[in-house]
Amino acid sequence: MIQDPNTYKLLTPGPLTASLTVREEMLVDRCTWDSDYKEMTQEIRAGLLELAHVSAKDYTAVLMQGSGTFGVESVLSSVPGADDTVLVLVNGAYTERMCLMLERHKIACERLDFPWDRIPDAETVAVYLKAHPEVTIVSMVHNETTTGLLNDIASVAKVVKAAGKTFIVDAMSSFGAVDIDVGALGIDFIISSANKCIQGVPGFSFIIARRSALEASRGHARTLSLDLYDQWKTMEKDGGKWRYTSPTHVVAAFHRAMQELKAEGGIAARGARYARCNKKMRDGMKALGFEAYISEEHQGPIITTFFYPQNAKFTFASMYDYLKSHGYVIYPGKLTERDTFRLGNIGEIYEEDVDRVLELFAQYLKEVENA
Ligand SMILES: *Cc1c(COP(=O)(O)O)cnc(C)c1O
Repeated sequence: MIQDPNTYKLLTPGPLTASLTVREEMLVDRCTWDSDYKEMTQEIRAGLLELAHVSAKDYTAVLMQGSGTFGVESVLSSVPGADDTVLVLVNGAYTERMCLMLERHKIACERLDFPWDRIPDAETVAVYLKAHPEVTIVSMVHNETTTGLLNDIASVAKVVKAAGKTFIVDAMSSFGAVDIDVGALGIDFIISSANKCIQGVPGFSFIIARRSALEASRGHARTLSLDLYDQWKTMEKDGGKWRYTSPTHVVAAFHRAMQELKAEGGIAARGARYARCNKKMRDGMKALGFEAYISEEHQGPIITTFFYPQNAKFTFASMYDYLKSHGYVIYPGKLTERDTFRLGNIGEIYEEDVDRVLELFAQYLKEVENA
């Protein structure tokens, strides 16, 4: 069957295939200062704290317009003061991007590089921090969507907190599917967005912040629109009112998506579904001869990077077109040194989908062989 080109499923890690009911929430136009709408924002903020296992006494949630990158930049440009130095633990494109942001804002920053198929090692971080007392803030990514690698934030958190530093985590593509005890780990700022594991649609990011750390950042922001402290103060003062126009349709869809996460069984159930699909995909692709970039030990549950097959007739474009014409859209790779492509499995993707996708890859390979 040839698929309607507008109804394919996304094997991309955001935007992702959202449920019909999440998308239906967007059929209503809502007023930004209406109390029902503001209540929706407040429920989202409270729900996020619950997912992070933190209390409203110690932590708060701030929603920020824009995609995930805007949330990361909001934190990195609002938190460090004039005397702070940020250490970025680089092992993928998203930590490279953090460095670019800090440079753009002329914030003192240092980087500690790790191979992109390896997790940042806590011992190395501890040694670095001891030798570099000027560092006051450490920033890293949890699930590196560039490669599919799941970093170990717990071991790093331990050494960062032992050294008394502020800890920032980009948990964009893990929050909601990988359980993170934000309070126990001592994370000060954790960032994710509407269109990742909570399965909403793109349009805003969110930041869960330790209240004391957020309070201490007052007056540090280098931009107006991404001022995290100001955004928070407005939401607090006005019971869920956003500064400037908020993406009302996206907020309503996200509100619904949070209910659907709970209905699925919460983080544990969603994480288990992702992990099952991811393993099935990895194993099935391996059987077809596709080699994964990340070792099984460090493979995260939401996306896998595969090397191109050793087949002279293979092209990414022909594979992409074949899959798209049969209802699935895949993702190009993001490595510079070797040709890769990526298969995500977040969103409304189930084991039946993985079976179907594996069948399509097998058929595609056969067609390439016979071409
Ligand atoms: C998706 C993602 C981002 C943000 O990307 P946007 O395209 O701005 O939404 C940042 N970090 C990680 C790890 C991500 O997966």
